[in-house]
Amino acid sequence: MNDLVPLKDFTPADLELWIQEAGQPAYRARQLLKWIYAQNVEDFQEMTDVSKDFRGWLEQHARIPSVMREKVLTDKDGTRKLLFRLLDGERIESVLIDEERRLTLCVSSQVGCALGCRFCLTGEQGYRRNLSAGEIVDQICAARRELGPEERITNLVFMGMGEPLANLQQVAKALEIITSDHGLNFSTRKVTLSTVGLVPEMLELSRLFPIKLAVSLHAADNETRSRIMPINRRYPLEELLEACRQLELPRRQRITFEYLLLAGVNDSSADARKLAKLLKGLRAKINLIPFNEYPGSPFKRPSPNRIEDFQKILQEKHYTATVRQSRGAGIMAACGQLTHSP
Ligand code: SF4
Repeated sequence: MNDLVPLKDFTPADLELWIQEAGQPAYRARQLLKWIYAQNVEDFQEMTDVSKDFRGWLEQHARIPSVMREKVLTDKDGTRKLLFRLLDGERIESVLIDEERRLTLCVSSQVGCALGCRFCLTGEQGYRRNLSAGEIVDQICAARRELGPEERITNLVFMGMGEPLANLQQVAKALEIITSDHGLNFSTRKVTLSTVGLVPEMLELSRLFPIKLAVSLHAADNETRSRIMPINRRYPLEELLEACRQLELPRRQRITFEYLLLAGVNDSSADARKLAKLLKGLRAKINLIPFNEYPGSPFKRPSPNRIEDFQKILQEKHYTATVRQSRGAGIMAACGQLTHSP
């Protein structure tokens, strides 16, 4: 299986090239793409309008799946955590979050992560490897297979394991497949990528795809941010926010700033005022995420009063500031709780 060409690693244009190089007519690529993405088929034999000879040839040279479903855990709030095994035995997770009018899939972009944010379980496990474009895209195809007849994934977020911009090449390829009419056909407005703020990659991505960005800020001064997010020493707040100012945002689009509230670390009223000042002039909305405690976690969740106070200060300064309801905490699928260990 390892020697077979993973078809989900190809963008639609690359697949066409590969098919032509193999001496096949280009229209075969369109046929294949339709079966793989519109029909979500994994077995060449199910492609009934493809000639028997070509199906046989494909079986000898290529494979469709890139991730293998191991199990699905469902939380009492309906959140589903999907566990996948990769061909080399590594494991990754995606999370399906069911909200009123949307069904969001949170995908992983790396096995583990090298950036070591202090509040994050994935970071604690260290970096193993980047995911290929196919391994990213196939999380979506596999998640679609878990849905009920009335369900449809409406939104995609790159907020699972890993820092997507540390794997920009494969993530960009995956985004091409995700947003192409011949691929998964998602609107760029329905895709959000979350980053700790790798500045050059952030600017490059915004030139390539007009998707939404969520920047993990988590502190309003360099000292606190460097303490909980080592990446801040490479790209301090001033540089990160300057890059945010340079981003060419589609009309009416704002940058979401994620702010994890950690009791006694970054949740004081003074912190809220500093944050308001820092984001002045930016087309910003703020998503406050009260920390999800887990056994042995080094931080605490602020009290409901503290959270409310923090939010109120931002709202008084005319920011849209929402508090994210924690989903999936019962199955360790909440933010920062994904880990690549089984
Ligand atoms: S929060 Fe994101 S960037 Fe930071 S360690 Fe966790 S996965 Fe990596």
